[in-house]
Amino acid sequence: MDALNGTSSGLYDGTDVASLSWMEQLWLQWYATIDNPTIATGLMSFLLHEIVYFGRSLPWIIIDSMPYFRKWKLQPNKVPTPQEQWECTKQVLFSHFTIELPAIWLFHPVAESIGMRTYQVPLPGLKEMAPQLFFFFFFEDLFHYLAHQALHTGVLYKHIHKIHHKYSAPFGLAAEYAHPAEVFILGAGTICGPLLYCYVTQNLHIFTVYLWIVLRLFQAVDAHSGYDFPWSLHNIIPFWSGAEHHDFHHMAFTNNFSTSFRWWDYMLGTDDKYRAYRARVKAAKAKGLSEDEMRQAERELMDEVEKEGLVAEAEVERNAANFFKAKAA
Ligand SMILES: [Zn+2]
Ligand SMILES: [Zn+2]
Repeated sequence: MDALNGTSSGLYDGTDVASLSWMEQLWLQWYATIDNPTIATGLMSFLLHEIVYFGRSLPWIIIDSMPYFRKWKLQPNKVPTPQEQWECTKQVLFSHFTIELPAIWLFHPVAESIGMRTYQVPLPGLKEMAPQLFFFFFFEDLFHYLAHQALHTGVLYKHIHKIHHKYSAPFGLAAEYAHPAEVFILGAGTICGPLLYCYVTQNLHIFTVYLWIVLRLFQAVDAHSGYDFPWSLHNIIPFWSGAEHHDFHHMAFTNNFSTSFRWWDYMLGTDDKYRAYRARVKAAKAKGLSEDEMRQAERELMDEVEKEGLVAEAEVERNAANFFKAKAA
């Protein structure tokens, strides 16, 4: 810690290091060692994103390779092949380096200009962070609900969002498999909440933003995992979306536009097909079918929903084509 006194930027001059927690000392060491807050923040942001995204996807890759877990797979007939997972990984990495890396690098100057604390210690406590985190979740969920519906219309779908819908049965790694414009548009929902909050309150530490990003990455990867366990979060918190909600969006092409919470889809009726599907599955279960019969019944219901989805998707693409025709006329 003695080296601290030698930072040319003098970030921590006069700081009583002994009074800091273990985490705060690590934080301070990172910024003091790199001795350039812009580089230190940019590097940490990028590493955090990569480590958490791929680190969280890894257990799902392992689970997909083990037939034992198939009984909890939402679309058990569609398990991603290693080849599909590798293709997806390459595409995601490409977008991380071309789109996210420059965007992340810009984050520090923007954050500092609106008064966000970055290198400063002490770090915020849980009591300070909890309401901030809730606001970020609420803001992102609503933003995503609206922007995602817009992405399901004509031109925006055909030229941007269609890429994310390549997988009708998603898997963890596919969470950020999307057109660069989509990464940018929907990423705004994740990052504008903290920026707005900081601009208005002048009280936000980037540490809270990192915690938010970690939670948001867990949410996104898990929602695409394709698995619903008895212990999945939505079985404990009924308004949490989870994979059971978002998997249907990929399978049916429609309904369930939000990310974290079910309330907007529920209140505004954009989960009608999803609820009808769930009711039919429940009714089939109530008939006391054998395990094989139940699997067959579920398969038929899924095929039906997916067929309807393909029709709806073709309709959206037709609208896009008509849009250009009308413009040319
Ligand atoms: Zn979609
Ligand atoms: Zn998705």
